[in-house]
Amino acid sequence: MAKRIVPGQTIGIIGGGQLGRMMTIAAKEMGYRVAVMDPTKDSPCAQVSDIEIVASYDDLDAAKKLAEVSDVITYEFENVDHIVLGWLEENAYLPQGSELIKITQDRANEKKAIVRSGAEVAPYFLVNNIEDLQAGLEELGMPAVLKTCRGGYDGKGQAVIKETNDRSDAEKLLSHGQCVLEKWLSFEKEISVIVTRSVSGEVNTFPIAENIHVENILSQSIVPARIDAQIAQKATEKAINLAKSINMVGTLAVEMFLTTDGEIFINELAPRPHNSGHYTLNACETSQFEQHIRAVCDWPLGKPDLLKPVVMANILGEHLQPVLEKIDQFSDCKLHLYGKAEAKVKRKMGHLNILANTIEEALDKYESLNIWNN
Ligand code: ADP
Ligand code: MG
Repeated sequence: MAKRIVPGQTIGIIGGGQLGRMMTIAAKEMGYRVAVMDPTKDSPCAQVSDIEIVASYDDLDAAKKLAEVSDVITYEFENVDHIVLGWLEENAYLPQGSELIKITQDRANEKKAIVRSGAEVAPYFLVNNIEDLQAGLEELGMPAVLKTCRGGYDGKGQAVIKETNDRSDAEKLLSHGQCVLEKWLSFEKEISVIVTRSVSGEVNTFPIAENIHVENILSQSIVPARIDAQIAQKATEKAINLAKSINMVGTLAVEMFLTTDGEIFINELAPRPHNSGHYTLNACETSQFEQHIRAVCDWPLGKPDLLKPVVMANILGEHLQPVLEKIDQFSDCKLHLYGKAEAKVKRKMGHLNILANTIEEALDKYESLNIWNN
């Protein structure tokens, strides 16, 4: 049921974090009005939107209010409450549906959907109790990593098991419900592909990002990724096949591991714009946020072409002050801050897109800023 949402109409967003904020800024540029629902007053998204509904994510009455003022509903995170989701699907216009979110809310479902699309995942074992954990370790060997099926992010809800007497953290995770035990892959690189599919079924991907994590939090995305063109092609195809096979609408971020012998394993999915796509804000013809709005409002998708090599560096709480002291050096950098009140350690406060004629130059600039090396 293709349905164009036209400028002047209202887009409702569930979740008021930085992803919602950047979606909203794109939507406002295109002439839309935006309503946001988030439990915290003056959230990053509410600061730039027209209508703010302060309520917890499982507040059905608040969701009904959001639906009442909105012509289309989207979301900026995957943990939308299932009762709210069900109600919205029945009673409001939610072009993304609920299937994609149900798949990505649970690592076990996610892995099955990935395999169904013809792609590979790291060997894994479903774990519900200590006996399963033992059986899984015997099958997969060590090191392995145990992840809760639901609710994990930025390395939370995970425990790496390197040797047999290294299991107490993993055993604690079992109280959070079903888990997956994964074989630890010694990958060469982590990359991601962001794929967008519109209500009318048009599919598009952004250039591949090479991602560097520090303590499980994304630290840098380097674009173009320094990988073989054939592998890039294969990775892009896998993301497109996946998007088509789950018949999604909206944005899907596909995180992948690349091994030294050129194998690609899909690590995890996010059903929304992604931190590793923030580089698109300044380096691509269309940003991932504009593309998402185009997709759910059923516009033709924008051209995703990379205009300039770029390094995206995340600004966590501990980086904020050093960043502010370096503004004089930002003629070739685009600073994005999310309007969060408190600069807590490890909290994502913003990001810096460093643009240059080559990746080497952008990386040199990154080093010379001397913000992330201490
Ligand atoms: P989340 O991003 O939700 O915290 P991920 O599953 O992406 O969880 O794991 C976070 C990071 O941990 C990955 O980006 C990767 O660096 C590392 N990691 C996760 N699973 C594996 C694995 N099976 N083998 C090697 N490294 C892994
Ligand atoms: Mg991840």
